[in-house]
Parts: sequence; structure tokens; C-alpha cells
Amino acid sequence: MFCPIHQIEMPTEITKNGLMSVCPVVGCNIIALNGKLSKRATKGNKKYRKLAHKVFDRSWRTSYDRTLLYQELAIFMGKSIEQTHIGLFGIDECKKVIKFSKLKKKYLTKNKVSI
Ligand SMILES: [Zn+2]
Repeated sequence: MFCPIHQIEMPTEITKNGLMSVCPVVGCNIIALNGKLSKRATKGNKKYRKLAHKVFDRSWRTSYDRTLLYQELAIFMGKSIEQTHIGLFGIDECKKVIKFSKLKKKYLTKNKVSI
């Protein structure tokens, strides 16, 4: 398991929740639990991630290509597609996802885009 930010191997240990890998870089809060990347969650960013997911999902569900939408989100966030996972985002990044999703939904509704 590699940290997507630092591209280095994350040491893995067995915990009560399963296999946990932690990025060894000081200040980096990337973790992987059973192979699934995440950030050490605080109460605040858990709430925002849930909301960002909800709003983002709503913007593509009706009539849009999900892969394309992720690519557009990556550009909007200034990140690579590999780093564009809502599960990795902090509060400010989640707010950006919500902003993007709302703009996108408005645009899609106005132009009645479908594939
Ligand atoms: Zn890292």
C-alpha cells in the first residue's frame, strides 16, 4: 500500500479493525484500512465527506457520465484523478466538491444534457 500523496510504502499492522497501513511521513494523515485509502477522520470531516458525497452523487445520477464527472472534478480541485477521492478530502476540499456539484447540476439542468 502506497501513500497517494507521498508515493511511499505505508507500513501495515494488524489492528482490531483489520489491516491498517499508515503513511510514515510526519503530519500526513493518510491511512488505509483493509486496502481502502482514507484520512484519519475527525468528527468534522466525516460530516462534510458524507454531505459532499451526497451532493456529488446527486449531480451525476440523473444524466451524466460518472468517469467524466470525476475527471472534471479533479481539474476543478487541481488534483490528479488518483488523488480525487472524497474519502481523502478534508473539510475545505469537501466544500469545494459541494460547490463543483452545485455548479454542475445547475449547468446540466439548464442545458438538459444527457448521454
Ligand atoms: Zn503520506
